Amino acid sequence: MARVDLDGNAIKPMTICMIGAGGFIGSHLCEKLMSDTSHTVLAVDVYNDKIKHLLEPESLPWSGRIQFHRLNIKNDSRLEGLIKCSDLTINLAAICTPADYNTRPLDTIYSNFIDALPVVKYCLENNKRLIHFSTCEVYGKTIGSFLPKDSPLCQDPAYYILKEDASPCIFGSVEKQRWSYACAKQLIERLIYAEGAENGLEFTIVRPFNWIGPRMDFIPGIDGPSEGVPRVLACFSNNLLRREPLKLVDGGESQRTFIYIKDAIEAVLLMIENPARASGHIFNVGNPNNEVTVRQLVEMMTKVYSKVSGEDAIQTPTVDVSSKEFYGEGYDDSDKRIPDMTIINKQLGWNPKTSLWDLLESTLTYQHRTYAEAIKQAIAKPSAN
Ligand code: UDP
Repeated sequence: MARVDLDGNAIKPMTICMIGAGGFIGSHLCEKLMSDTSHTVLAVDVYNDKIKHLLEPESLPWSGRIQFHRLNIKNDSRLEGLIKCSDLTINLAAICTPADYNTRPLDTIYSNFIDALPVVKYCLENNKRLIHFSTCEVYGKTIGSFLPKDSPLCQDPAYYILKEDASPCIFGSVEKQRWSYACAKQLIERLIYAEGAENGLEFTIVRPFNWIGPRMDFIPGIDGPSEGVPRVLACFSNNLLRREPLKLVDGGESQRTFIYIKDAIEAVLLMIENPARASGHIFNVGNPNNEVTVRQLVEMMTKVYSKVSGEDAIQTPTVDVSSKEFYGEGYDDSDKRIPDMTIINKQLGWNPKTSLWDLLESTLTYQHRTYAEAIKQAIAKPSAN
């Protein structure tokens, strides 16, 4: 039976130029598009390790519907041609790990703003639709974070729920280079929005709220640099796999809402296939029911990992570190991130499903299966590493 959109119309197969298809989100989106739809993907990236299983062997049922194009959008004239022959462009390419924001601020700003400009331009000039990936970090800090800790207003959602069309964007000072990422993302959002308003660009902006799951980032010393610092899920997975204490930055008081990547991908697919409902909108995509402090995340991940690995937790499960020690000068943090879901509910009728416990269980099962053996070998033979 033909698949239909939210208004009951048959969905026509389209060609999608996906920039950054080889990353964490791109790999899950490619997987979904190959297994559940008949769309074609022109997968653009500098690496393809995370989508190799979709590209080879040629006997795969979707072979012919996904093509990998190894190119760097910074300096490759083939990009415009790929956008031209697609119906839709999705831009996922970006530096998006906090450890880079204050230590490589120029790369962060160039990657998130300057390198995204030609993509916007080619979409506009060729009359193509654009889905651009932004971040929940454009909200910065909550209004509530400036109130005294004991103020009753801290309990009032008006001071912390993040709404696409109402919340302000509150960043720290310029010396706090952590905000180079948020600021670059905010400016590219404003530019895309203005191209929509002044020149008719058909766009959708996605603000992911801590999407996590298998294939996220890398495990230092195994499939990424030993000294590299990935995002929190991979940092804590690495500590658990190596039976080291998990590092709590600045006491682990910050709060996050985590969403399972597979839930989030459902939302993106709805945007892809319902352009009339998605165009011109900015969407929060997160799970407001999965809020924890980083300290609570540590406790839950420790329990879940014991369950999936069959190993007891270590004696000292955490160690405190300052953000300056862990991330260096210029780090700062978002205090709390709860997405308002009104707009995505109204436009796309979407809601996340997976609880934090369940998503950690499937993700840590994957981490254990994928890395436990390699870590054992690396620990046994440190010099060979
Ligand atoms: N964090 C931590 N220990 C780690 C890695 C991260 O305590 O080993 C904290 C970090 O300071 C932040 C939160 O975990 O408060 C989430 O970090 P992540 O890298 O996932 O990115 P963010 O949500 O800040 O964009």
